[in-house]
Amino acid sequence: MIYSLLQEFGILLQRFASVTFATLALSTATCSVFSTPFFNPLNTFDKTMYKVATTVYTSLTSILIFATGLVAVNCGVRYICSSSSLFGLCGNDRLIYIDNYESIFHGAANTYSPTFGYIWIPLEYCFFVELVYYIYHRLMHTRRWYRYSHYYHHMNLVVYPADILHADILDTTLTILCLYMPVLWVRGITSGMFSFLQTALITYSFLQHSDRFVKIHTIHHRRFDYNYCFCLPIFDWLLGTLSYD
Ligand SMILES: [Zn+2]
Ligand SMILES: [Zn+2]
Repeated sequence: MIYSLLQEFGILLQRFASVTFATLALSTATCSVFSTPFFNPLNTFDKTMYKVATTVYTSLTSILIFATGLVAVNCGVRYICSSSSLFGLCGNDRLIYIDNYESIFHGAANTYSPTFGYIWIPLEYCFFVELVYYIYHRLMHTRRWYRYSHYYHHMNLVVYPADILHADILDTTLTILCLYMPVLWVRGITSGMFSFLQTALITYSFLQHSDRFVKIHTIHHRRFDYNYCFCLPIFDWLLGTLSYD
């Protein structure tokens, strides 16, 4: 039992390390190819390193908390439903996220045909990340939450890619949870797909903190009330908060 729990944590940490490494490597490499500064020159090197260390620490903590929840619920369900057909609960839609948990950590086959699944599942995951993050980000811009936490990310009006790390512990943790949450209901997402999508979305988030690549998020840092999206402005467009200038 303890061994399998440690194994689950090991897999999570391994995935988190590879996604972090890939994200940092891709975004710093892109910046150097386009001769764009990665770090904000207004911050000293010491301050930046401190923020990197703090972010890695808080990210690890939030993932461990989330993993503990998943492992605990999963163990509980396995304990209650000792037979896979008990009350018809296991494997049907009422316990979708257990299926997802299985497919992410143990590579179970998804329920779609391979071609359809590889197109549809990433689209579905990105759609729900945008939905969850849009709601979260708008909440963070209400007066109370803005003052309590999100103001810290908005301290610099002109931003650079590394400024994605310029966020406090609560904001960083909840943003990471926004990326994890859709896993609970998007069926058939596999571990490889999840790591790839996370890497793509976070790399894009680094790069969109620079006018050189995408302007939408740098406009958010200047105008505050527009462009709440994570990457794709679907809900900004639908709800009238999209701005290109
Ligand atoms: Zn904001
Ligand atoms: Zn930002």
